[in-house]
Amino acid sequence: SRFFTLTDHPQGTPARELFALREAELDELADGEVRVRNTWLSVDPYMRGRMTGVTTYIEPFELGAPLEGAAIGDVIESRAPDFPVGTKVRHMQGWRDIAQLPASHLEPLPGHDVPEQTYLGVLGMPGMTAWAGLNRIAEMQSGDNVLVSGAAGAVGSLAVQLAKARGGTVVGIAGSQAKLDWLESLGVKAVSYKDRDAGELTAALLDACPEGFDVYYENVGGVCLEAALNTLRVGARIAVCGLIAGYNDTAPAPGPSNLAMVLIRRARMEGFIVFDHWSHYPTFLEEIGPQVARGDLEHDETVIDGLEQTPDAFLKLFEGANRGKMLVRL
Ligand code: NDP
Repeated sequence: SRFFTLTDHPQGTPARELFALREAELDELADGEVRVRNTWLSVDPYMRGRMTGVTTYIEPFELGAPLEGAAIGDVIESRAPDFPVGTKVRHMQGWRDIAQLPASHLEPLPGHDVPEQTYLGVLGMPGMTAWAGLNRIAEMQSGDNVLVSGAAGAVGSLAVQLAKARGGTVVGIAGSQAKLDWLESLGVKAVSYKDRDAGELTAALLDACPEGFDVYYENVGGVCLEAALNTLRVGARIAVCGLIAGYNDTAPAPGPSNLAMVLIRRARMEGFIVFDHWSHYPTFLEEIGPQVARGDLEHDETVIDGLEQTPDAFLKLFEGANRGKMLVRL
């Protein structure tokens, strides 16, 4: 099996040299285990947090050990009757070509008529995150004006569409013209955060939605949060999903100077981790799966080819090189 490991904990933006491709002989297959040839690997922003060596809500990556992450593949050898050779599965032994694991760590792919990698994106963890954050944390109501940062990413691009389907004005913040154009094509008002300070971004957001927002779906932090706080309506809810603008910071960024807006607008700001909501995954799939299969929901992918490129794909997340879900195809 060829796998990537981390040789040291990154400081700031991870250097490419910290990712080493290694090879190891796999043990003989034990009873109850399967061997999987991975076909798709997911790279996700949360992996940056696991690289610091500190436990947050999830264990840190161990230096020298194979990195982990969501992956999809085909069972190629099996000593588990429920997962015969040829079964398509999802599991957490990504960042490698061949995975070997107990059947209890595998999930068969749900049966919607969609390409298999969809279960790493819009019908996987990122999609579930968008759905849970909007419905269960922000408690979005129909007619709400909704603001989403990181709007052209895996999570954000579903969040804006779900909001659009029952919302008032939906505004998405993203970082390139191609992303803004894509968001506009989905019926979402799109605003760039690039080269804008909080004041300028506030003005652009209020230009797109003068009434302000009932819901802010937060993926980014930094200047986006500071501007969003200025645009809250009374009783607004902020779902704090991610704060990617700070993931490579070496020192904590100064907090938003206008956090008092949460108080002034009697808003609610709540953090969440999608795994705590996973018991609702079947409900999410039942609702969103058919819409994806029918083509009613856009879900772009940015695909990078080859196991060797996995660290590059991961690092490109922090440059905004992906539209929709960032994936590695083996
Ligand atoms: P994305 O597909 O959105 O990829 C990351 C995007 O973030 C980039 O494309 C880029 O878009 C944007 N970005 C990167 N750096 C910056 C920066 N410094 N400032 C502003 N934008 C930046 O990733 P996901 O959809 O997988 O994740 C989105 C967010 O949701 C992340 O913060 C992630 O940590 C969080 N998350 C949280 C979960 C939870 O359980 N709470 C679960 C899953 C994800 P652009 O070109 O627009 O800058």
